[in-house]
Amino acid sequence: MTAKSTKAAYTRPEVPSEPENELASVIASTRELVLWEKSLGAQGFPGSDPIVTQPGSASDPGTSDADQDCWARLQVLAEEAAACERCELSKGRTKSVFARGTQDTDLVFVGEGPGYHEDQEGLPFVGRAGQLLDRMITAMGYPRDGVYICNVVKCRPPENRTPLPSEAAACAHFLVPQLELVQPKVIVALGRCAAENLQCVPPAGPWRGVWGEWRGVPVMPTYHPAFLLRSPQFKKPVWEDLQAVLGVLNREVPKRAR
Ligand code: SF4
Repeated sequence: MTAKSTKAAYTRPEVPSEPENELASVIASTRELVLWEKSLGAQGFPGSDPIVTQPGSASDPGTSDADQDCWARLQVLAEEAAACERCELSKGRTKSVFARGTQDTDLVFVGEGPGYHEDQEGLPFVGRAGQLLDRMITAMGYPRDGVYICNVVKCRPPENRTPLPSEAAACAHFLVPQLELVQPKVIVALGRCAAENLQCVPPAGPWRGVWGEWRGVPVMPTYHPAFLLRSPQFKKPVWEDLQAVLGVLNREVPKRAR
């Protein structure tokens, strides 16, 4: 978004503490931010590489006002995440990593957090694990960018460690409205960290392949692609999980993947 050099002060509206008010907060925040930017002479969103396919673009010609509105709100959230200092992970990041894919989808994948390559490029799942995830997505019959992919935390934890609960809680400020805006029919939680943060790990017993629910959306917890690179013997159960996801979405398992 282009803004003149003399900036008026922007104050983010107070965030309600109740999680169900998070989306209302983001909408209010978005409106305030857009009005503020407009007062500075802004005429649109930045011309940087699209992280999430913009509705109405050449690659996504079918669109509606609601799609455009959703995309714009996600863009504002992504910009806020790029400047966010809500937790210590901001200190080590090269780029924040918000999402890739399309918000016009029935399927969302949630991972743990960015790694080295993701931190450098500002995109989730772009390393070897990302390539494996792409193969899993296409095996399910989706185009690579036909789903929405994001992480629990938007900034890389040092040495790729698991995000601390306090960091994940801080970044729920972004994850919750992200998922509320995309409104998937199913979420796939990639790895235990993602499953825990979507409150889908049973107190005891197995967690992989056991359906959970996040705010009414079915969640399938399965292994992270990075784990599968180290332990390829677990690809079969993960594929079974993804076939179960296709079943809930009323989608056929592609013949070549059976
Ligand atoms: S991880 Fe999330 S909460 Fe922490 S600084 Fe990055 S965007 Fe902000």
